[in-house]
Amino acid sequence: MVTPSTGESAGKRRLSAGRPDFDAVVVGAGFAGLYMLHRLRTMGLSVRVLEKGSGVGGTWYWNRYPGARCDGDSVEYSYQFSDELQQEWRWTERNASQPEILRYLEHVADRFDLRRDISFEATVTEARFDEAAGCWRITTGDGAQLSATYCIMATGCLSAVNRPAFDGLERFQGEWYHTGAWPHEEVSFADQHVGIIGTGSSAIQSIPVIAAEARHLTVFQRQPNYTIPARNGPLDEAEYAAFRASYGEHRRRAKTTPTGSMWAVNPATADEMSPSERRREMEARWQNGGLSFYGVFADLLVNGEANDIATDFIRSKIRAEVHDPTLAALLSPHSYMGCKRICLDTDYYATFNRPNVTLVDISGAPIEEITRTGLRTGGREYVLDTIVFAIGFDAMTGPLLGIDIRGGDGRTLRSKWAEGPRTYLGLAIEGFPNLFTVTGPTSPSVLTSMVPTIEQHVGWIADCIANARACGRPRIEATREAEDRWMAHHEEVAAETLFPSCNSWYVGANVPGKPRTVTPYTGGMPAYVEKCEAVVANGYEGFTLTTA
Ligand code: NAP
Repeated sequence: MVTPSTGESAGKRRLSAGRPDFDAVVVGAGFAGLYMLHRLRTMGLSVRVLEKGSGVGGTWYWNRYPGARCDGDSVEYSYQFSDELQQEWRWTERNASQPEILRYLEHVADRFDLRRDISFEATVTEARFDEAAGCWRITTGDGAQLSATYCIMATGCLSAVNRPAFDGLERFQGEWYHTGAWPHEEVSFADQHVGIIGTGSSAIQSIPVIAAEARHLTVFQRQPNYTIPARNGPLDEAEYAAFRASYGEHRRRAKTTPTGSMWAVNPATADEMSPSERRREMEARWQNGGLSFYGVFADLLVNGEANDIATDFIRSKIRAEVHDPTLAALLSPHSYMGCKRICLDTDYYATFNRPNVTLVDISGAPIEEITRTGLRTGGREYVLDTIVFAIGFDAMTGPLLGIDIRGGDGRTLRSKWAEGPRTYLGLAIEGFPNLFTVTGPTSPSVLTSMVPTIEQHVGWIADCIANARACGRPRIEATREAEDRWMAHHEEVAAETLFPSCNSWYVGANVPGKPRTVTPYTGGMPAYVEKCEAVVANGYEGFTLTTA
């Protein structure tokens, strides 16, 4: 419900003719929206956050599937804007579980008294820029409307679920779930025949947990994925204390790496190392676990031969883990690694040695239909009590295009992005004044450590708004030339990588009909931050600032 700060009751409101209702509206109350609210409020702005869920958390509010936990190390998957917060919060595990991350975000909301400016169960359906009034007019699902000078989309990169578009789903008499929209009630798989569709990060986390509970689990795999052991476990008290004592130093170092993460990238390319050095490096990173495997060779993501060395190594690990060689071969990917997001797992491959787990390869025979009692593929019906769709998201553009966004001249974002997203730095869009996107398409976002990257965006947007207000020219819009220049650079660096070679959500290949384009910026976080800072140093280069 949207409850305007004026105290008017929720429900349909008339648009105010004078000043906008708020200085800023923020859409979403996940990591990005919460910090955006805090930051803008600290600047003295009136802010309203509109959140679809009935609580804070964003991704971590919706993704409650079995085994859901963070792939990044929890000590870096957290805010650094408040040293008190980072010193007082104690993560219990290397990779925090979904309930623990949600507790953290609830703690942040309480600690900074954020809830009083958040409307929950407020799904934004439309956002239109009113050129005459110089403000955004926002409509929510229940028909409520409000206006604000600035509109900040903190809608997340992976928040629009890829809906199951399988024939016959409405006939299915069992239960079905999507990992990205999991119920808040307890789900039991005890004594059930469960089918799971997908083998991405969400599936790879949930498969071992579901297999341990269900009578039988059938995994329907279209493409296998590379997964590295998470090596999750409790965080040792003494090590944690030592880490906390130099938290700032760890954070500063992370800012210098391409992914903005605390783990180091090997400065050597694969061909600068001997075979035994390469083997040692790969083994060390495999044993250490986690996403640091991305940094195994400096050229992993730009050199096919380096990539082949790493993938040969991983396939040998799969063969060693999975007892049945045919099954091991089916679980072994042959694409480049990293051009699809690498997964992290706990006991994923060992799960396929269990007698109650079956892998069905659907690479050559798509799911034909969901039946009353299961699903049909390859001419055969699989009888199932429950189906879990772990089929991912309409990534990065989906959350924005799910809202009817219209710029000053009435142009829709959907028409502007018909051939793929175009933005300036993933932060702003030509034709859509006073609209900002946190970790929007063509920002580094999903290729980096998300929370620090969100903080960089939020800080940049807040400073930009502060500058626009201070100089008395509150209307700010990216120019066409700046956007074109940014997109040319974005496309040029993407073409030098292996990302275009995979059918991944990074290029939109998982959503039928979506334009194929590398969506995140692949030039690395330090280069990106440098560009953002240069724009500011040059007086918000590439933007026009006007009074109305
Ligand atoms: P995903 O990586 O897109 O995986 C979706 C899976 O469903 C893929 O195996 C895909 O097969 C399959 N699929 C999609 N449509 C299908 C269809 N019509 N028929 C059969 N199979 C189909 O989605 P996700 O696992 O939800 O993960 C998305 C991203 O969220 C991750 O890459 C990661 O960035 C993030 N995530 C993070 C965490 C974490 O940090 N702990 C956990 C979960 C997710 P194809 O590969 O053939 O397309």
